Amino acid sequence: MISTNTKTKFIKKVLAKEIKAKSILRKSKKIDSWFLINYGMNLYRGCEHNCVYCDGRSEGYYVDGEFGEEVSVKVNAVDVLKRELDPKRKRIPLKNYFVGMVGGVGDSYQPLEKKYKLTRRALELFHEKRFPVHILTKSTLVERDIDVIKQINNETRAIVSFSFSSTDDEISSVFEPGVPPPSERLKTLSKFKKDGIACGMYLMPVIPFVTDTPGVMEETIRKAKEAGLDFIIFGGMTLKEGKQKEYFIKNLKENYPELLSHYENIYQKNKWGSPTEEYNQSINQTFDLLSKKYKMPKRIPPYIYRDILEENDLVIVILEHLDYLSKLEEKPSPYGYAAYSISKLKEPLSGMKGSLRSIKGVGKVTESIIKEILKTGSSQYYEKLLR
Ligand code: SF4
Repeated sequence: MISTNTKTKFIKKVLAKEIKAKSILRKSKKIDSWFLINYGMNLYRGCEHNCVYCDGRSEGYYVDGEFGEEVSVKVNAVDVLKRELDPKRKRIPLKNYFVGMVGGVGDSYQPLEKKYKLTRRALELFHEKRFPVHILTKSTLVERDIDVIKQINNETRAIVSFSFSSTDDEISSVFEPGVPPPSERLKTLSKFKKDGIACGMYLMPVIPFVTDTPGVMEETIRKAKEAGLDFIIFGGMTLKEGKQKEYFIKNLKENYPELLSHYENIYQKNKWGSPTEEYNQSINQTFDLLSKKYKMPKRIPPYIYRDILEENDLVIVILEHLDYLSKLEEKPSPYGYAAYSISKLKEPLSGMKGSLRSIKGVGKVTESIIKEILKTGSSQYYEKLLR
């Protein structure tokens, strides 16, 4: 039950702390198959959106000040990025892979972006340097930059994704008080889709006993399908001990006091703040059934990226997706280990066609899947599991 005094949105004024960053781009050791990115960044540390469940609030992220009330703004970010993208300064030039503007500890389109335009200026730079981008936000402010995003998409590729905990505006006003309602987010996604840009939904986190019910989840997936989205990536909610859990539970007490004992049952103390395995299995099964019903891809489909990635990375991504999809169906999976082994290789897989089985974790079935990916850019078995 939602108490009436919390239905109105409250957006506190935040303190913007201007700081100078030494570096911006974070390069990952291997391609991230959730977002298809090799490089990520946070232009802001802290987030005005102040979602009740945000794990950016937890101590492990070392965000300065009170989360949601203070945001560090990396005012020199674009100059640092220019230096980092300069091929003359690199012994091994950066690959022109998707750069992720996917937040982490701060949404790239939080209200401060209206003033600082760091995200817009970074996008202009990626356009100039011919890098594809993947943007993940909760804010419709991204529409401001549709011109430059379209240019990037025309010349390389752009993916615009939004995160949701559901598509219910009333529930969102309790847990996501600082962002536009889901109905507005969906409208923005439809606009990007009309312009031919790949769009996705990160349905994460679903909020236990509130947005993880089959009814709410089905409505969310149905609306994503209706908006023509290319994929939905699903995930549950972690509640790390300390500030994140305390803040969430305080809000739950005010709005859904009857759920407190259910939360005590599924969130027992552990390092990652994960709910019990039994709970995870049950929400994953519900998601799997519903995404199949609506034929929604559960990972970013290869048609969006296969012309961008080098062959080893393409194989790694598809094998990692297969690992997730197989486990979702409770099938044994050799694919994750094989993907990890391939990520350690120095030579291209096409030069090893006769010796693929010498790679750790690659058996007969995985070998034939790899050969098919190298030949066609995908695998029929994978495409069947994907939706
Ligand atoms: S928009 Fe993302 S980063 Fe910002 S508070 Fe919400 S969950 Fe956290």
